[in-house]
Amino acid sequence: MAVQQELDFKIDYGSPADTSGISVFSQDFDKHYAYEGDDLGVSYTQTETFFRLWAPTASEAQVVLFATGEGEVTLELPLEQSEKGTWTLLVCKDLTNWFYTYKVLIGNQWNEAVDPYAKALGINGDRGAIVDLSATNPEGWSIVKPELTDTVNTIIYELHVRDMSSHPESGACFKGKYLGLAEPGTRGPGGISTGLDHIASLGITHVQLLPIYDYSTISVDERLPEERYNWGYDPKNYNAPEGSYSINPYDPLSRIRELKQMIQAFHDKGIRVIMDVVYNHVYDGYRVNFTKLVPGYYLRYRENGDLADGSFCGNETASERKMMSKFIVDSIVHWAKEYHIDGFRFDLMGLHDVETMRTIRSKLDMLDPSILMLGEGWAMECGLPPEDRANQGSAPRLPRIGQFNDHLRNAVKGSPFLGKDNGFVGGAGNLADEVKKGVVGAIYFNDQFYSYASEPDQSVNYVECHDNYTLWDKLKLANDKNDDIVKAMHRLSTAIVMTSQGIPFLHAGQEFMRTKGGVENSYNSPDTINWMDWSRCAERQDDVEFVRQLITLRKEHPAFRMKHASDIRSHLYFEGAPDQCVAYTLRDYAGGDSTRHLYVLYHATVGHSQLELPELGQWQIRFGGECVSSLENGRLCATGIGMVVLEVI
Ligand code: CA
Repeated sequence: MAVQQELDFKIDYGSPADTSGISVFSQDFDKHYAYEGDDLGVSYTQTETFFRLWAPTASEAQVVLFATGEGEVTLELPLEQSEKGTWTLLVCKDLTNWFYTYKVLIGNQWNEAVDPYAKALGINGDRGAIVDLSATNPEGWSIVKPELTDTVNTIIYELHVRDMSSHPESGACFKGKYLGLAEPGTRGPGGISTGLDHIASLGITHVQLLPIYDYSTISVDERLPEERYNWGYDPKNYNAPEGSYSINPYDPLSRIRELKQMIQAFHDKGIRVIMDVVYNHVYDGYRVNFTKLVPGYYLRYRENGDLADGSFCGNETASERKMMSKFIVDSIVHWAKEYHIDGFRFDLMGLHDVETMRTIRSKLDMLDPSILMLGEGWAMECGLPPEDRANQGSAPRLPRIGQFNDHLRNAVKGSPFLGKDNGFVGGAGNLADEVKKGVVGAIYFNDQFYSYASEPDQSVNYVECHDNYTLWDKLKLANDKNDDIVKAMHRLSTAIVMTSQGIPFLHAGQEFMRTKGGVENSYNSPDTINWMDWSRCAERQDDVEFVRQLITLRKEHPAFRMKHASDIRSHLYFEGAPDQCVAYTLRDYAGGDSTRHLYVLYHATVGHSQLELPELGQWQIRFGGECVSSLENGRLCATGIGMVVLEVI
């Protein structure tokens, strides 16, 4: 049934989705039209295909069928009105490898759109494709995942598919493609491992992929992917892979199969896969399929009818609306089941509502509770009441959902938004206490040291990600120091991340002090700025080895990854330390450690410091001996910027 809703106010959608002034919907719209079935989109078998589209404001609807990806319309078939504003059609014929779109009559205008639920796509995501997904499983496709015994054992490594192999010396055959990351045995300058082998050699547990769903053609034209570069934070179709990373983006099956092959290659190396999901906004609020099909429903609007823009990307989605929330949940479940995705990183999670995030957590728990959730829980202005926003302030209601700890990030290196601002590692004063709040995993430690988290798995600790300057570029800019000192600051920053309670997060190339040549926001910079520079990696193998040793240290000591806030409160003690230092002990087999006590010192000064060690036994050097000038009679003398870890066995 078409809806004759009350018009709250008029919205001019402009071309091409001009909908004759259809308004956003009244509050009780969801009560009447929320559809709860699990068959939205296309349900395919060899003998029949069933279409179900949700479009309550349409007065007519059709499915448009194309025999080829770019050819003319082959057939237009009317859809029949069904329950809750849905439209359905059963076609008793094998439609495999046909392409389709929907047309809906809104007011007196026909809008043509791709099915938001489309699981396969033609070139540039301009048509959905009807496929047999079981035909996309690559050789060796297995649901068996690398082991993850607890969330805090996670070590995340964030990467962009194209960056990992686009460099001329990557040694990869399929440069810039999904398959470029599925190639074992690639070698770079001086015979170093690159790509998949390099990542596996670090010891990280999860890769986190920048957007791999289909993103805007304006950013990258899938027909000419080499012409432009983009990170991909401009979603076009959520439920199928981006085509520019495929060796054959015209074939709807190929991009799916290649992505699965890449995921399987990671799994085969013992690495889990997190995908970055950007449900908080769409590439264009007017041209997006959601708006063409149900104008005004899926996005948030201001009182004057303009698109709300909490994302600063032109619009924000309305996750609090039932069918938007359902779409997000269904999409996540699709990726988890069909692609064996092991985790989801929610871009600008602070724009989503708490209830949707909780629903996703519970749906994933039904599939596999080891699937991670993490997000950017920034406090952002948006169309939601403050208490409903899924941000750091709501952490107690978002258990087992990690949030990026920007407080620790800023304390360690300085604010990313103030280029010259230096942090703890750069010798800035009065930041030791802020670092301590991160060391404890952002939990309530005592009345002096507390942040937003209820449990340590809610703190994702990092000093570099795809956003803002790389750590190297930031430290160079903020600190007027020579490369050797900046290198020591860089190492200390990563060491703090790798020893703090919570979930450590590294950016690809951080291990070789990646530089983007001072480019602050490289989202559409050329490959020459964004690629993994394997020459630099070859030159800095000692830094790569340092990060490997940090990862090994973390893996060998459960004391650095205590599971519960109460364990941290019981076993972690801050020790006396001079300015520019943070010292603490992890006592009494913390977290089930086989070592009795650990003493950790972050030494952020080029000079010497004398430290009294707690009388817990015979202290020995476990890590960072190069910063130790003497260790005797319960006293440690540290020299130069770095981290020292001592132990009492
Ligand atoms: Ca695309």
